[in-house]
Amino acid sequence: MRRRPIVARTFLALACLGGVALHAPALHAPALHAPALHAPALHAPALHAPASRAPVLRARAPHARAPHAQAPRVPVSRASLPGSPAGGSGYHSYAETVAEAGRIVAAHPGIARSAVYGTSYEGRDLLVVKISDNVAVDEDEPEVLFTHHQHAREHLTVEMALYLLHLLTEGYGRDERITGLVDGHEIWIMPDLNPDGGEYDLAGGSRRGWRKNRQPAPGSSAVGTDLNRNWPYLWGCCGGSSGSPAAQTYRGPASESAPEVRAAADWVRGRVVDGVQQIRAHIDWHSYGELIMWPYGHTRADTAPGLTRDDRAAYAALGRSMAAVNGYTPRQAGDRYVMDGTLGDWMWGTFKIFSYTFEMYPARGAPGFYPPGGRIAPQTARNREAVLRFLEYSGCVHRIIGGAARYCGAGEGPAAAPGRRPAPA
Ligand code: ZN
Ligand code: CA
Ligand code: CA
Repeated sequence: MRRRPIVARTFLALACLGGVALHAPALHAPALHAPALHAPALHAPALHAPASRAPVLRARAPHARAPHAQAPRVPVSRASLPGSPAGGSGYHSYAETVAEAGRIVAAHPGIARSAVYGTSYEGRDLLVVKISDNVAVDEDEPEVLFTHHQHAREHLTVEMALYLLHLLTEGYGRDERITGLVDGHEIWIMPDLNPDGGEYDLAGGSRRGWRKNRQPAPGSSAVGTDLNRNWPYLWGCCGGSSGSPAAQTYRGPASESAPEVRAAADWVRGRVVDGVQQIRAHIDWHSYGELIMWPYGHTRADTAPGLTRDDRAAYAALGRSMAAVNGYTPRQAGDRYVMDGTLGDWMWGTFKIFSYTFEMYPARGAPGFYPPGGRIAPQTARNREAVLRFLEYSGCVHRIIGGAARYCGAGEGPAAAPGRRPAPA
């Protein structure tokens, strides 16, 4: 059901996914910030080893590292959003996000744990939080991943992560539906994939419209790689990214050249246990455009190698079902704008993880990447039902087209509550 003009939405999707800075102020010339912090490998080197499973809280690890218990290594600026009517109150800086996640974990030790899965270019801890019953144990439950804030200026996505952490922990034991979902799944949330970019975007009261990370490009004075063009599936294949270091969609000199991408990719690879990828479904959060998108991004074709007609049907059915409850527009990522090296394409193309990209509020125009703080609560809660519905199907998304037996073995999966099938959309 498309109630609103597609043209405007398509145009806006470019702002995030295509990297056209439609509403951002002129990008500043790369500043030589933080030159002393360019030694990411010196921090937690074990976490960068591809084979390492330490950061994923494998079973029986006695105590995962508690990143909230220590101060961030890097001094961080207050991440307010100057110019917004609410004065930016309500948005969390990197340090505040880490602290808030720490408070949530501490308040719900039975179902929440956090770990550091890597280090950003400038040396900030990259955080992942797990929510599940028996949270310290790697159980045989469908695993789900939420990733947030690949793009620096998309601050609302960090708030979405905190909303989900609150929703799932505070709803546990109080809300039957949430309790069942937490009991039946292992839910991983990465609240901030790009902390360096996010801090830079708002440093000193600025509002730079920054998108990329803060890693200088080799042989160039330009700074920043577009993380969502740096993933190692058909990287740079299709004209959906740029090879120019100054470009908003610079794909980097090689796939996974960005330490933030490398760390998250290593973590996802670490979820292959006994040859089986444990993660079944994923949402990558962006802003803005109010869209729900599915792979592929590198082609406009509905089906392509690794993406069958049934896969496409399942993607579209769940995408439309979620869109019916949050008012976003569902569509394939590459329909009108080709992009390559994206996280979503990599997740699906490499692992067959059902991967959606959500573009949050607004649909178009002001306030663009910088909604006032007063928009945080309604625009995160707006996704409550869509996320719960996503979780209910996450164990076997093919179930939504009646493909549970064929694609997921017998049974409907742990979250197949009767009567929960969404209305056709
Ligand atoms: Zn984005
Ligand atoms: Ca569990
Ligand atoms: Ca597991």
